[in-house]
Amino acid sequence: MSLERTVKVLIQPLGRLDVNALGYVIDRLRSSFKLFDFKASRRHMEIPEHSYNHERGQYDSSMILEELYREYSRGVFESAERVVGVADVDAYVYGLNFVFGEAQLGGPVAVVYLARLKPEFYGRPPDHALYVERICKEVIHELGHTMGLRHCPNPRCVMHFSNSIFDTDYKLLGFCLRCQSLIRRIL
Ligand SMILES: [Zn+2]
Ligand SMILES: [Zn+2]
Repeated sequence: MSLERTVKVLIQPLGRLDVNALGYVIDRLRSSFKLFDFKASRRHMEIPEHSYNHERGQYDSSMILEELYREYSRGVFESAERVVGVADVDAYVYGLNFVFGEAQLGGPVAVVYLARLKPEFYGRPPDHALYVERICKEVIHELGHTMGLRHCPNPRCVMHFSNSIFDTDYKLLGFCLRCQSLIRRIL
């Protein structure tokens, strides 16, 4: 993609996180996307306690997103144009069993959840490369939403909706031509 403008993206860990994996994610994203300028946040942020739903044993994603937006509005992320929170938990939104992530459509904040991106979650042995690749896809997917993109019908496009981890593994780490041209128009 040849674009003059880059979008400053801050990756914000939420709660306890394997920072090593996050380092690999940022390296991989930097080498794959010229459109975004990725930076890891050194700020410590907790997952808001009130967002935990004890009955479900999951976090309410919308509450986490809201909290991130509140912090963004207060200016704590400084010059970042987009902030993607990353939390090593399982989360849901109203009406769905779980989500891999959530974003404000055309807004500045998004969150990605790691629990269901680990091969171990599905009874498989740990696979670092696969885990990193999945995180990258979900981060780019949610970033696409913050850019105003909706879900894409192309199952190989990163903007395709992931109903399960199979969908995530099937899609590529990149926008299809249609989504690329949509982003160009938005920028
Ligand atoms: Zn989506
Ligand atoms: Zn697409």
